[in-house]
Amino acid sequence: MFKAVLIEKDDAGYRAGLCELDDAALPEGDVTVRVEYSTLNYKDGLAITGRGPVVRKFPMVPGIDLAGTVEASSHPGIAVGDRVLLNGWGVGEGHWGGLAQRARLKGEWLVPLPAAFTARQAMAIGTAGYTAMLCVMALERHGVTPDKGEVLVTGANGGVGSVAVALLARLGYTVVASTGRPDEADYLKALGAAEIVDRAQFAAPGKPLARERWAGAVDTVGSHTLANVCASTRYRGTVAACGLAQGMELPATVAPFILRGVTLVGIDSVMAPREERIEAWRRLARDLDPARLELMTREIGLGEAIDTAAALLEGKVRGRVVVDVNR
Ligand code: NAP
Repeated sequence: MFKAVLIEKDDAGYRAGLCELDDAALPEGDVTVRVEYSTLNYKDGLAITGRGPVVRKFPMVPGIDLAGTVEASSHPGIAVGDRVLLNGWGVGEGHWGGLAQRARLKGEWLVPLPAAFTARQAMAIGTAGYTAMLCVMALERHGVTPDKGEVLVTGANGGVGSVAVALLARLGYTVVASTGRPDEADYLKALGAAEIVDRAQFAAPGKPLARERWAGAVDTVGSHTLANVCASTRYRGTVAACGLAQGMELPATVAPFILRGVTLVGIDSVMAPREERIEAWRRLARDLDPARLELMTREIGLGEAIDTAAALLEGKVRGRVVVDVNR
């Protein structure tokens, strides 16, 4: 038996609860993992509360991330005792996920836990942090170097935003953090932000082109914010778009792209190829200051995951939440 968060949907409605499950109920897969830590991302919040159509099969164990030790394996190259982590691949959406003490998965989804990280640190990073790294790598690929000028991070107090601020600052960029929580300015400065701006300036419909300011941007917010960020990006600058905290729509014009040569790069962490994941985790081990990671991390037990998921969607959670599934 093992403990898990379980989401059910039937005539009685959509609900998540903590329960004990039999090992025989685990889905198919060639590797069984004893989970140590999981985490809460925005998508887990949507899944647990039912506020977004994330879960595709019921009952479902949520949790798009997990880290732990291999307990059984028939997958070539993965042995009992290996330390592994998993991000995405539809786990926690269509296949039982990480908010449980045990998971059965496809070996090809697993990445070796980098030696630099404990399971807890890897989950403090989680999909949010790995996505932030994918965004930084995209900016680099498009020639955004620290000497080019300021870079903007939207949704800066969130998980992706906090890690993006810390990474970019450590890499020498001048980071401007956009937030709706200006009272968290000290926190954002401790992560490395040079300046804090009010997210309200990006939130409403704006002009097709605004004053050029950003050499690059990491946008976790979408909607008018992303449109306004593109409109204020400098000539040949790059915006990495990964989120939809304000909304899924993109009410923009082509002006920044055809008049300023701005590049809009889409970032998807869920199905990203294995080589890119391994590179992102290698870079996280090199470029993320463990002290700043700890500063942005709060730990909860499995039983607290359901209430915390709702708080996360309400924008009440700062930084990252790591879940100790064994307490
Ligand atoms: P999170 O911790 O909840 O952070 C979201 C942040 O967005 C909030 O902390 C808040 O920051 C800001 N925000 C919330 N509501 C907003 C609104 N109405 N208007 C403007 N800003 C708002 O979530 P996360 O885990 O970091 O994820 C952030 C986004 O990235 C989500 O949309 C998520 O789905 C997406 N994501 C995508 C991928 C991918 O593969 N593409 C991977 C991971 C996450 P402030 O309080 O600082 O304003």
